[in-house]
Amino acid sequence: MAVQLQHETHVSEEELKAAQYFHGHKCPAVPQGLRAAHLAMDILGVNRARSGGELKAIVELGEHHFSGCFADGIQFATGCTFGKGNIVKNPLGKFAVTLVDPRTRRAVRVAVKYDRMMMCLDMPFFEQRKKGIPPYEIDPKDVDPLIQDVISHDWHDMFDVTTFENYPVQKASESFDAVQCVDCKEMVVSNYAVALNGEFLCKTCFSTRVHRKEL
Ligand SMILES: [Zn+2]
Ligand SMILES: [Zn+2]
Repeated sequence: MAVQLQHETHVSEEELKAAQYFHGHKCPAVPQGLRAAHLAMDILGVNRARSGGELKAIVELGEHHFSGCFADGIQFATGCTFGKGNIVKNPLGKFAVTLVDPRTRRAVRVAVKYDRMMMCLDMPFFEQRKKGIPPYEIDPKDVDPLIQDVISHDWHDMFDVTTFENYPVQKASESFDAVQCVDCKEMVVSNYAVALNGEFLCKTCFSTRVHRKEL
């Protein structure tokens, strides 16, 4: 089924600059994440998440591989962040994100096309990255045109899109219950505390007692 967009959100220079500041350097993967995120939000007809319950992002990046920066573009544009707990990693080593709207249970998976990733990998930016040159030391002339292309290219040539209805959604309410660990005196959220002899211990102190055989 072909996806029809009512409205296409473009990445502004301001958003790009702010995302690059948040991320730490200029690279093509952050704008690619911004584009994928806006496409997903436009298809779902949703705004950026202000709190944890509004959207959920599932990113398929793995660990320690090229273009992992894609996930920071997703975080920046969708507002699904580590702190709000509405982004999770399903580490498949793929350049894709599924954005879920828990209210309607509609979801969309946006994946960067194989040919598009291959084209980027053959460019001077990645040739230098493969040699171990950090992204912030690469001459802007080798990265700026690539970024501009990622920002402006027709999304149909960049991404494959799958939409879902009735996507499984788990509702979890935010916990405000916490106790004091009797050993380290630090605060620990109740669900994470261990009850022992009418007292509470954090998992770290509980494990210390176990190893000292003090139970
Ligand atoms: Zn990067
Ligand atoms: Zn403790």
